Amino acid sequence: IRRNGILEYLEEQGTLDDIGGSDDLKLWLKQRSIAFTERAREYGLPQPKGVLLLGVPGCGKSLVAKATSNEWRLPLLRLDLGRVYDGSMVGRSEANLRNALKTAESVSPCILFIDELDKAFAGSAGSADSDAGTSSRILGTFLTWMQEKRSPVFVMATANRVERLPGEFLRKGRFDEIFFVDLPNEEERKQIFTIHLSKRRRDISRFDVDQLAKISDGYSGAEIEQAIIAAMYDAFAHNREFTQLDIIAATRATFPLSRTMTEQVEA
Ligand code: ATP
Repeated sequence: IRRNGILEYLEEQGTLDDIGGSDDLKLWLKQRSIAFTERAREYGLPQPKGVLLLGVPGCGKSLVAKATSNEWRLPLLRLDLGRVYDGSMVGRSEANLRNALKTAESVSPCILFIDELDKAFAGSAGSADSDAGTSSRILGTFLTWMQEKRSPVFVMATANRVERLPGEFLRKGRFDEIFFVDLPNEEERKQIFTIHLSKRRRDISRFDVDQLAKISDGYSGAEIEQAIIAAMYDAFAHNREFTQLDIIAATRATFPLSRTMTEQVEA
């Protein structure tokens, strides 16, 4: 599927257990892995409509979508709302969106992943780069579709900042649930170090993940993975296996985005 890049297939990847933290979300999704089967329909289970994942970048939101696609055995489509805008003719943008949604319905049951919902609709309040009228018409088109859709298209949307999101999205009936997928706490960082070291076929008993979790306060899952990769490259360049000390050094050498943001606020 390709509609000017508005809609594209994403590849499924891994399982929900490959994601550290977000236990509530993972359980909710696992319980619904059979939601779109014939057996669930006969039982009378209502089909889930969608979830909204809130939180800073790099904490595994795309990963959740790919793992859900894998565990639910449903195709995963990404809708890029930024590409829906087309100012060449009045009504073209809404038509683009309606066509993309129709295409998604034609391959349903499926999961529709929409990244950064807040960015797409920041213009509805009237921003410089997209005209406010078009933006609010797109928003209207999308909300109506969400409300009225009959086909089993499960919407998984993400947003970094909830306050930038039009309030309509938070109203009951639009998403089944809203989950925070935010910076991992110490226990979750332990899980993430363990997941990524195991993924690289390393004997986890050689590492003290308690210590690694302690020194990585404020790091996202993506930043933890980056620190491990940096440690591996460093050791590889010296023709040796990487160790606990390499990861500590790599972690200390990087500065998590969250800390930069805190400093900006304080400055
Ligand atoms: P963005 O909002 O920037 O898309 P995201 O929240 O979707 O970020 P991902 O792109 O899924 O985050 O994360 C990037 C990579 O970091 C993942 O592919 C994964 O390897 C690692 N990662 C992030 N969070 C976790 C986590 N909770 N558990 C395990 N790995 C993680």
